[in-house]
Amino acid sequence: MKAILKEKPGPGFVLKDVKKPEKLGPREVLVKIRRTSICGTDVHIYKWDEWSQTRIKPPMIIGHEMAGEVVAVGEAVTQVKIGDLVSAETHIPCEHCLQCKTGRMHVCQNLEILGVDRNGVFTEYAIIPETVLWKFSAEIPLDFASVMEPFGNAIHTSLVTDLTGKVVLITGAGPIGLMAIQVAKAAGASLVITSEVDSTRIQMAKENGADIIINPLKEDLIKKVYTITKDGVDILLEMSGNKKALEDGLKCVTMGGEASLLGIFGGSIDINLDSLVIMKGITIYGITGRRMFDTWKIADELLRNKKVDLSKVVTHILPFEQWEKGFELMLNKKCGKVVLNLD
Ligand code: NAD
Ligand code: ZN
Repeated sequence: MKAILKEKPGPGFVLKDVKKPEKLGPREVLVKIRRTSICGTDVHIYKWDEWSQTRIKPPMIIGHEMAGEVVAVGEAVTQVKIGDLVSAETHIPCEHCLQCKTGRMHVCQNLEILGVDRNGVFTEYAIIPETVLWKFSAEIPLDFASVMEPFGNAIHTSLVTDLTGKVVLITGAGPIGLMAIQVAKAAGASLVITSEVDSTRIQMAKENGADIIINPLKEDLIKKVYTITKDGVDILLEMSGNKKALEDGLKCVTMGGEASLLGIFGGSIDINLDSLVIMKGITIYGITGRRMFDTWKIADELLRNKKVDLSKVVTHILPFEQWEKGFELMLNKKCGKVVLNLD
């Protein structure tokens, strides 16, 4: 079968023929991958950055976002059957640590990540534990089911608090920020302001329904936000992983407001917590992954009932063989989500 591999340490991937996996553990499932999508994490592994060098153990099949079909099940599998269409939570919990036992599997102490710590889904067939499979509703197109995992990030970050009637600032309109614009609107936010520095992404933020878009490189974000809102925004959704965006975003939050942080800064950052958080009485939420499986249920409902339309987020659907073009688009940020089709 075809697979995109990190064959050896160093930048790049190769598309190769590898042996189809056969031996399933009792609770494992063989999934025929029909769509897979490229995540920023895959781009980090492609570039072979510092994080990848310490975490990835080549040779390994990369990729974690997918929609596929169950083709074989281990002897103890009870939750799915052959023919089921599934997407997957990519954070594989241990199911026995304190957090797993107390309904917080997304912060499992022994988390393993698909396509990072074990072979992933940039291939024709992948072995996935039944615990993390999500049977998505038949009404959801495969191209959208493939991106349910990052969509879940947008949902988890946005709906950690009640957005009804709230003024929201989203910093960063990458694929997840774009999805968050739609989630915030579906959740009843009264105004969704988005900040973004890249011209392609600014255009996409418009197409995904942001009420106001500010380019902080061209306009004074803080001044503009206070002119529009008078008192500042109720909640900041930080989705850029940029220090300046976080700092200015916190300055835009009203006294006693909230900030939900998804963006990864890639190391320590220096901000004034006294004036930006403590003295303003701001509540901060750190967001990792998706809640299992409350977030998936919401993702399914929003897509099935067309409360969110991902057609303006999934900008490219390419044949699997054109994966290099997909990575080029991702590297240049000239895209939303890039989906690879294996049908
Ligand atoms: P992305 O890198 O495609 O999007 C980030 C966007 O922020 C880009 O469009 C970029 O132009 C914009 N940006 C950069 N500097 C900015 C600034 N000063 N002001 C406003 N916008 C700015 O990433 P993505 O895939 O959409 O993911 C969003 C973030 O979430 C990333 O940092 C990613 O690493 C992180 N992430 C976290 C989790 C988690 O579990 N916590 C999961 C997935 C992704
Ligand atoms: Zn655990």
